[in-house]
Amino acid sequence: MICPKCKSIDQLDRFCGHCGHQLKEPCPECGEWEPIGRVVCKMAVEKIERKIIEAGIRASGKIFIYTIMLMCAVIPFLFVLSIHFFQQQDVVARIYFATFLAIIAWDIISRSWERRIKKSEKEKLFREHPEYVEILKKAGKM
Ligand SMILES: [Zn+2]
Ligand SMILES: [Zn+2]
Repeated sequence: MICPKCKSIDQLDRFCGHCGHQLKEPCPECGEWEPIGRVVCKMAVEKIERKIIEAGIRASGKIFIYTIMLMCAVIPFLFVLSIHFFQQQDVVARIYFATFLAIIAWDIISRSWERRIKKSEKEKLFREHPEYVEILKKAGKM
């Protein structure tokens, strides 16, 4: 941060390394030394940012499960359907065909799914903790 007194930059300690001006004070919320004049508790903002990352990881987990479920449902279906295009004994060709189509289908629908699932996980987090929104807004991160 920049020292408000002497304007020297990159000051990370409690006191300015250049002029000795006090830059940090114990945060009344978390007790950590935080920049004087900060709008919200830095620890609180960091905690929320961690929660948002966790929500993203949860979303990825869900997307993975849905992918498996979709593949388990669609591949056998396409395999049965493939009898119209292949001989019954061409099992390997039919499996390739079914898997290939399933992957294309997944690729098309997953783009919108992924966005929606990630968005809904984040919305759920903010619904459960409305105070997070306030803190992020105060911190200028929303
Ligand atoms: Zn200074
Ligand atoms: Zn704090």
